[in-house]
Order: sequence, then C-alpha cells, then structure tokens
Amino acid sequence: MKFYRKIADYFFHSFFPVRCPYCGGLITPNRIACEQCQPKTEPVNVVNEVDNVRCVSPFLYEGIYKRAVLDLKFQKCPDYARSLSRYMCCALENHFNISDFDRITCVPPSKKSYHERGYNQSELLAKEISACTGLKFRKLIVKIKKTKIQHDIDNAKERKLNVRNAFAVVNRYADEIKDKRILLVDDIMTTGATLNECCKVLYDSGAKSVICTTYVFVENKDMKGDKDYECL
Ligand SMILES: [Zn+2]
Repeated sequence: MKFYRKIADYFFHSFFPVRCPYCGGLITPNRIACEQCQPKTEPVNVVNEVDNVRCVSPFLYEGIYKRAVLDLKFQKCPDYARSLSRYMCCALENHFNISDFDRITCVPPSKKSYHERGYNQSELLAKEISACTGLKFRKLIVKIKKTKIQHDIDNAKERKLNVRNAFAVVNRYADEIKDKRILLVDDIMTTGATLNECCKVLYDSGAKSVICTTYVFVENKDMKGDKDYECL
C-alpha cells in the first residue's frame, strides 16, 4: 500500500511541485523550506495586542518573510500557504493549546480581489492550519462594504476608517460563533484595523474569545516604499 501511495505522491508532486517560499526552489513535500533557506528562518513568535486584537505571528514583516508573504498574496503563489502556515502553527503552540479554540476562520477578501487573484490567501492559510490541527474551518465573516485596498493606505487613521463596518458574520453560522473560542487568520498584521473590525463582529455575535494569527506583523507602521508590488 505504501508503495502505491509513494507512486501517487510522485505523480501528484510532478504536476503540483512544492516550492520553497523563500527562494522558489523545488522541495520535497515533507519540507517547509529548502536546506539552504530553512536554517536562515528565525521565528520570533510574538503576540501583538491592539484594541480588541491579540495576534500571534511568527515573523516580522521584513526580508525573506516579507517577500514570501507578498509572493503568496500578489504573485500567484498559493502553494506557499502550506509552508507559511506551518510556522504559524508553531507560533500558536508557543502561546496557546489548540484545545483553546473551537473554530478557525479567516479575514474575507473583497469580491474584486478574490475575482482577480482567484483565491483568498488568508483562507488558504486558515485551511492549512485546520488540516494540521483538526480545528473546524468555517467562513464565518463576509465583507459587506467596498473599501480601498488597505495595502495602498499609508495612514493608520485612514486604514481604520476605511474598514469601519465593512464586515458582518454569516447568519447561518450564528450557532458556530456564540460562546465559541475562535481563531481568526490573516496574512499580515499592519495596524490591526482589519482584524479589529473582524473581531468586533465576532464579539457582537457572542463569541467567547477571539485570538488572531498572521504570518507576519509590521513593526514600523509606515507602509511607504511597498508600492513596488502592484495589487493584481
Ligand atoms: Zn529556499
């Protein structure tokens, strides 16, 4: 049986090769980065707290981590989600037990970016964490208001205003939010404005607790100089 499994894996990974998110080189499916890049990764596994948000992130938004998450987001590299999510799982395990959560969900995309990109990178990360931990994934939140792309706004106050009342919970999942401990996933925590709005709607619907996790967090909130990445 193992032999057939190996053959199936071989063909699967020939068609869907696994790449190192830090250099783009091919890696075997059991690795999270190539032999050269993996030793260079140094997770800080920090908890950031702003307003309603408590967010666990393995890395700062800089260097190879910044490049990897922007490639996942803007350069059509959805396969990087698998590797990046493993680091998020380790960061979570540093501060919490998986049994501290009942459900896992993600920050929803705008219809426009989902349509243009073809995927929601936060959903991919959440589903990978779900597969690793056994936590039940649900799309609990939807976007109900058109907003500017947060990535394009430099100013923290404007970011906050931009996403105010932009989210709502999905009514049919009301029972999966009330009194539940929820893990909310996004890719990047900048000012925390988006996460804060999503936490707010979950708490308004009776969530017992909401903990956030992102792959990276921004220490210097000045986003200028990031415009080399055009949003697709
Ligand atoms: Zn590499």
